[in-house]
Amino acid sequence: MIELPDVERMIEGFAGYATGKTISAVLIDNADLDVDPKVAKEKIESHAIDAVERHGKNIVLRFRSEYSLVFDMGDAGRIYLESQTVPPDESSGIRLQFAAGRELRFDAPGARDTVRLVEGTDLAALGGPEGLGIDPLSDDLTVETFVELAVTHPRSSLKGFLMNPAAIAGIGNEYADEICFQAGYRPDLKVGRMNERQLERVHLYLRRVLRRATLHWQAAHADPGWLINHRGNGAACPRCSTELTTIKLKGLKTFVCVRCQRAA
Ligand SMILES: [Zn+2]
Repeated sequence: MIELPDVERMIEGFAGYATGKTISAVLIDNADLDVDPKVAKEKIESHAIDAVERHGKNIVLRFRSEYSLVFDMGDAGRIYLESQTVPPDESSGIRLQFAAGRELRFDAPGARDTVRLVEGTDLAALGGPEGLGIDPLSDDLTVETFVELAVTHPRSSLKGFLMNPAAIAGIGNEYADEICFQAGYRPDLKVGRMNERQLERVHLYLRRVLRRATLHWQAAHADPGWLINHRGNGAACPRCSTELTTIKLKGLKTFVCVRCQRAA
């Protein structure tokens, strides 16, 4: 499952090269994609990429034409630079070519709504089927906002709330478990049973975990103190060595240390 830090890494792989460059051709490989080839030709070809941004798991390419391409990375999307001489993958969705012989490729198995070509630059207006939640690393997710949001989801499990894309965009299975573990609360704890101080603590660790995974990906994924590095069968808690318990939450395999993570 792709999560916010993975999307950041994809951006690092192409943003420096692509920003400021002009697209020489747009090739739409998946005819099911919800992108009008005529509009793409008119609003993207011969236009330069002004900026590359991220909101949750969406990557936004802003063009000088004031149009934006929005890629939803979903569970298996991939965006990367490749030489134009390398044949595209079977799951190739769209390719944006540069004059120098390279192209930016977006591979996304299935889903037609994974790419959108939108006019304007107001991300808030983009939304998804359920609306777009707040990006957890943006300044908008203050501790006050987080607590206010949580209070409106009292029946949700803590993990379910963290993963609800209409509330907070971009947190998936593994980072939700990590945040619960680092904060010291069980992922199946009902949000409505948590007090303000506890929710503030979750917010603190949400930011810490995602910032570290984004800025220091290698170090985080080699840290023996992180749950994310102990997600195997029969694995032990990195803090107390108790065998980790696995439960199903929202159909997802969830790792819990019953000693380190409190139920209330
Ligand atoms: Zn433990």
